[in-house]
Amino acid sequence: RCKAKGGRRFEFHASGMHAWTREWLTLESRLRHGLEEESFVLHYQPQIDLDSGRVVGLEALLRWRQPDGSVWGPSRFLGVTEACGLILPVGRWVIQQACRQLAWWRENGVPLAPVSVNVSARQCLDRSLVHDIAQALQGLDLPASLLKIEVTESTATSDLGQLKALLTELRAMGVGVSLDDFGTGYSSLTHLKRFPIDQIKIDPSFVRDILHDPSGAAIVQAMIALAHGLGVPVVAEGVESEQQIAFLRQQRCDIAQGYHYARPLPAREATRFLLQHQHSPSTVYRGAAQTQP
Ligand code: C2E
Ligand code: MG
Ligand code: MG
Ligand code: MG
Repeated sequence: RCKAKGGRRFEFHASGMHAWTREWLTLESRLRHGLEEESFVLHYQPQIDLDSGRVVGLEALLRWRQPDGSVWGPSRFLGVTEACGLILPVGRWVIQQACRQLAWWRENGVPLAPVSVNVSARQCLDRSLVHDIAQALQGLDLPASLLKIEVTESTATSDLGQLKALLTELRAMGVGVSLDDFGTGYSSLTHLKRFPIDQIKIDPSFVRDILHDPSGAAIVQAMIALAHGLGVPVVAEGVESEQQIAFLRQQRCDIAQGYHYARPLPAREATRFLLQHQHSPSTVYRGAAQTQP
């Protein structure tokens, strides 16, 4: 009985691998078409200044529209995109699209906030990244200060020297650099010391624990102090509740991003969010709403 069970399991496993390989190849060819068919989209998640309640940035997050109408998040396709090298053209599209959106907002009188774009290790090692960014900005006559890039610590495992040179060059252009998912990668503190960065983003996995776990709270507190010691502002990611915001504000965290304020929004909804928050910072708005009888 036991043997039969084991045998079945192996069979299942083997056919599972086969299906997985097939799925991978299909995915790769669909991704190639995705660019031509313009089925990629960017969603924008607002970043809120915890003092003023104002929108001080938006993170551009990649989505992939499926033929059945569903929309996939990066966890479902980014791995394959990176593995087969498509991250270079896709990443270029992300930068161009973020700039086109900024230009559209500017032309339509929507209050602007800098847009942060995630870049992967592969893109950072490619010489065309700086050129692509410069061209996207210049082509639309956008100031570089409206664009930021987010790198993770895992981006840095390959070639520290090259990455440092790249970030230095981008910052000289006026493009901001954020260290994403801080604390989740390998040798975080080394990176902090070596990289020219303007901002640190605390990963949701740390923010999640601040209310229930004293050591979780201590870690976030220390991260904020560390960032401030280095003279850079901190963004807390994955903020989902008012209580978390209260804690973060008490700890002098600068900026918050998370479902509590808004999910990553399609462009039209992001536009509405920017318009709604231009005169009524979210903290003021929320405060007023809470005191309604
Ligand atoms: P990330 O850059 O750390 O982005 C933050 C992730 O946290 C996003 O997941 C966002 O939807 C999610 N998030 C935001 N607020 C909350 C919250 O309150 N609670 C929870 N549980 N999650 C929250 P998403 O959009 O699935 O993106 C996952 C990762 O994919 C990103 O992590 C980033 O590393 C990568 N990624 C996204 N877009 C791009 C892109 O255009 N290029 C590259 N290279 N990577 C991208
Ligand atoms: Mg990010
Ligand atoms: Mg992150
Ligand atoms: Mg991440």
